[in-house]
Amino acid sequence: MTPDSGDDAPYQNVEYLLEHGPAPAEALPTEVRARQRAVGVYSFTIQGGSGSDGLSLQGQLQTVYYLDDHSPETVISTFLETNLGLVDKATVKGLVRRFGGHGSEWRDAARTVLSEEYDLLAEPATSMSSGEPRDVKCWRCGTRISDLETHLSEDCSG
Ligand SMILES: [Zn+2]
Repeated sequence: MTPDSGDDAPYQNVEYLLEHGPAPAEALPTEVRARQRAVGVYSFTIQGGSGSDGLSLQGQLQTVYYLDDHSPETVISTFLETNLGLVDKATVKGLVRRFGGHGSEWRDAARTVLSEEYDLLAEPATSMSSGEPRDVKCWRCGTRISDLETHLSEDCSG
């Protein structure tokens, strides 16, 4: 029995995703069709929106395809890599809210990716907590202080 050429196309995509992780349509070996869902291939995107929360990207976002096995973190990470510029254009709050529209695990994953890969959310005070404030030199009197703003308004003698 020889299936016609279209029949194993979805499986080629599944194999690609298994091997490489989440990917945009252009990276997949075959065209994505509606049947992909039947073999476990899911699509991910976020709505462009009105721009009121910093996201105004209708029609510009590329969908990322993934398998049920893939964690929300890897999907979101790939989505942000695929849609370069999204992180710059949108607010962190806006992004977290849009990703969170897919469910709480997606919201948590978005926060993780934005903080660990893009350094965009305040890090919890753990390993870096012992860092001392850096002294700066006052441009008016030359004294080294840690808080220039307070120094200038309260005790600068220059
Ligand atoms: Zn001073």
